Amino acid sequence: MITEKTDPKLKIAMNQIIHHLKNSNRILLASHANPDGDAIGSLIAMGLSLDVLNKKTTLYNESPVPAVYNFLPAVERIVQHIDRKNVYDTAIIFDCSDLQRIGKDVSIVSRIPVIINIDHHATNTHFGDFQLIDTFACATTEIIYRLLKKMAVRINKAIATSIYTGILTDTGSFRFSNTNRSVFAICEEMSGLGVDPHSVARHIYETYSLGRIKLLGMVLSSIEISCNNKLSIMILTKKMLDETNTQPEDINGFVNYAKGIEGIKIAVLIKELASNNEEPEKPGRFNVSLRSDETVDVAAIAASFGGGGHSVAAGFSIESTLSDIKSKIINLAENCLGI
Ligand code: AMP
Ligand code: MN
Ligand code: MN
Repeated sequence: MITEKTDPKLKIAMNQIIHHLKNSNRILLASHANPDGDAIGSLIAMGLSLDVLNKKTTLYNESPVPAVYNFLPAVERIVQHIDRKNVYDTAIIFDCSDLQRIGKDVSIVSRIPVIINIDHHATNTHFGDFQLIDTFACATTEIIYRLLKKMAVRINKAIATSIYTGILTDTGSFRFSNTNRSVFAICEEMSGLGVDPHSVARHIYETYSLGRIKLLGMVLSSIEISCNNKLSIMILTKKMLDETNTQPEDINGFVNYAKGIEGIKIAVLIKELASNNEEPEKPGRFNVSLRSDETVDVAAIAASFGGGGHSVAAGFSIESTLSDIKSKIINLAENCLGI
């Protein structure tokens, strides 16, 4: 296990960030658009901790908080707009491999004098003035946990629940390859601080809308298998979202079904964000999720399209036609799989 205790670079970064935060008063906290449990959990865990230190904070995410996370404490403090009149001395960016991942307000955030980058993506571009990047951490909230320990902030039940949520969701409920001893050690401690794992799991995995389940049915029906049964591709169209009255947040986790098929090494979910009016030959805007069984580095595939992520879970955005995206992915997959 590599932590700030064994990696001098992480230790220096932590000390510098702690020193800087002591002298900061107005802090903007932001995480990536279309947030997951780690992006939301990071905002809340750090926001509540900075309250204890009497810092003025704004918690920002471009997208609405997915409904399944509404049970989290202080979730109502997350705003979707940054008031240009607000003056900040520091911004802390969580769970973003590059600054653009925060979305439309990137130009406002870039003007904040000091930017702190806290993340666990291997493809992190090291943006900002201070970087606390631990690619061995299972979630950004694991890094926040270590930072809070070093800051001697008392982790209360609300903070613990946010840390736990980030870890639970980013490890795929303790199933992904980033699940290790330290994950269980932290979660054991969080449970001792009052986190109720059953209650958290029920909120996150058992409060889906009927629309989401119908949408899942449509996406599952789209599965196509190629590359000698090693590649699975699923498609989600804007029309499916409209028909089931669902939002992009309802797609979280779908790609794992494509990955769960026996023998699959690369799983892909192509999501149409803006409709091309049912004209498949016309380019549209797509977001692509990639997953691998660990034998293939899908972050490299994502990077070749300008995206990023981890070797086993990555993504990119692209403006193209569906058939073009599919054939490009199949070509790259054939290369990776040696076909
Ligand atoms: P997702 O498939 O959206 O769950 O994302 C999987 C991983 O890929 C996450 O670690 C994301 O940070 C990363 N990722 C997804 N989309 C993009 C993108 N457009 N650019 C950079 N990284 C991305
Ligand atoms: Mn994330
Ligand atoms: Mn994360």
